[in-house]
Amino acid sequence: MTVPRLVFDLDGTLLDSDSALRHPFLALGVPEEDITYGHVIAEECRRLGLGLDDYLDHYDPHEAQPFPGVEALVVGLGPWAICSNKHPRSGESELARLGWNPVEAWFANRYDGPKDLRPLLGHLGWRPASITFVGDTNHDRVCAQQAGCRFVLAGWNPRTDPRPGDLVAGEPAELLDLISQ
Ligand SMILES: [Mg+2]
Repeated sequence: MTVPRLVFDLDGTLLDSDSALRHPFLALGVPEEDITYGHVIAEECRRLGLGLDDYLDHYDPHEAQPFPGVEALVVGLGPWAICSNKHPRSGESELARLGWNPVEAWFANRYDGPKDLRPLLGHLGWRPASITFVGDTNHDRVCAQQAGCRFVLAGWNPRTDPRPGDLVAGEPAELLDLISQ
C-alpha cells in the first residue's frame, strides 16, 4: 500500500497569518487596499517599492497562530513537508517557535521565482502520485497539478476560493479521511 504523504503551504494554510503579513506593509505606509497574499515576499516588496529587509524587520514571527485544528493534525502526522513562498527568516522562526518538525521546509530561497513542488519531491524521493499538497491559493493548485500530486484546498481558511473538481477540507481534522477515500 502506498503511504499517503502530505506537503503543506504555510501562510493561509497552516498559519492564520494574514494579519502578521499585513502589519509590516501598513507600518511601511502601504495602503490596505494594495495588500494581497500568496506572493514571493521579495517580489511583492519590489512591486510596492519597499526594501525586503525593512519588511522583514517589521514582521513579527510571534504573531501568526495556527488555524484551529492544525496543531493536532501536524503533531500526529508521519513525515510531512512544507513548500512555501515565505521568506526563510520569517518561516524558520515560526517553525522553531511552534516546535514543528517537517522533514523539509522549503522557502523562497530555494527557488528562483515562485515555489515549485517538483524539486522538493525529487529531493525527498517522494513519488508525486503518493503526495497530497494542501494549500490555499490558485498557485498552490497549479503547483500540485504541475507536479502530478493530489491537491486539497484548505477550506478552513475563509479566504479560499474553491474551484470545480477541488477536494476541499473544511477542517484540518477532515484531511486524513478525505485523502484516504
Ligand atoms: Mg498560502
